[in-house]
Amino acid sequence: MAILVFVEDAGDELSQQAIAFGRSLAGDSDPLDAVRITNDGAGYAPAAWAHALAEVISERRPAAVVAPGSERGNEVLAHVAARLDLPMAAHCTSVALGDPAEVVRLRWGGSLLEEARIHGSPVLLTVAPHAIAADGVLDPAEIESVAASEEPADLLVRVSERVPSAVAGVSLADAEVVVSGGRGVGSAEGFVALEELASLLGGAVGCSRAVTSAGWRPHSDQVGQTGTKVSPELYIACGISGATQHLAGVKGAKKLLAINPDGEASIFASADYAVIGDLHEVVPAISAEIRKARGS
Ligand SMILES: Cc1cc2nc3c(=O)[nH]c(=O)nc-3n(C[C@H](O)[C@H](O)[C@H](O)COP(=O)(O)OP(=O)(O)OC[C@H]3O[C@@H](n4cnc5c(N)ncnc54)[C@H](O)[C@@H]3O)c2cc1C
Repeated sequence: MAILVFVEDAGDELSQQAIAFGRSLAGDSDPLDAVRITNDGAGYAPAAWAHALAEVISERRPAAVVAPGSERGNEVLAHVAARLDLPMAAHCTSVALGDPAEVVRLRWGGSLLEEARIHGSPVLLTVAPHAIAADGVLDPAEIESVAASEEPADLLVRVSERVPSAVAGVSLADAEVVVSGGRGVGSAEGFVALEELASLLGGAVGCSRAVTSAGWRPHSDQVGQTGTKVSPELYIACGISGATQHLAGVKGAKKLLAINPDGEASIFASADYAVIGDLHEVVPAISAEIRKARGS
């Protein structure tokens, strides 16, 4: 049973993991083909990449198509599935090919494993990131290049420009201190006081998903299961209730200070230091004390 692997980028770790997963399915006797999509310097266009990949699949009819569990791997394979009218399973940790195929895959951001059956051929799946070790780098010469479709309908959604992040100073992932705000901050303007405290401490500002959903901060500031995982010396949670999905991103913090007027908030169960109070009073008061101590 031939296996086809979609490689996003030859050197990228998740693509190498997809190749290792594909090899484990192909075994010693079955052929393994690896393809990457090229588009001559034009921007990435998911439908154009998927169109090209779908044609390769229709020609070769592999038993399974394996893609990396990256955003792009999932996006391209979802487009392929729609084009070929096939089901797709994302973030798989194992698969037994057959009719139906049986997969185990990560759900809910990795908090549970689901066993599922997939009816359809070929089986389309992406590999859960870091569920399998890359077993040595595949020589780029062994990866076949296929040109992306240039049909105008496939280019309606494409990357037209790249704008570097406006984040100045220390990055969230590397910061020694993170001052993070939740819904309790109340507005985008409410983050000015948190930015000031972060700047005094040489840290970075983070936030909860309630904040990014409200559009108060960009997604790049989000901490948690579906955001950045942080590991500062001190994490200051202001107006954050302490949902498990938020705390999933804070596990690496050495100390956690929580500021919340609700003494029953679950964040306090994980906190090393607790201030039961209004962040709009407490955060400026901490900044004022730091300035006073520094004589500035
Ligand atoms: C699949 C999935 C993935 C998710 N991923 C993430 C993720 O990556 N990151 C994430 O954060 N969430 C994530 N969530 C959402 C998560 O479940 C919570 O909904 C979210 O974290 C709540 O954000 P919050 O604590 O800011 O808001 P709330 O839960 O509404 O809490 C607001 C808190 O502010 C306090 N407050 C109010 N006024 C003040 C004040 N003046 N001063 C101080 N405190 C005040 C309140 O007492 C309350 O405790 C995910 C959810 C799902 C289902």
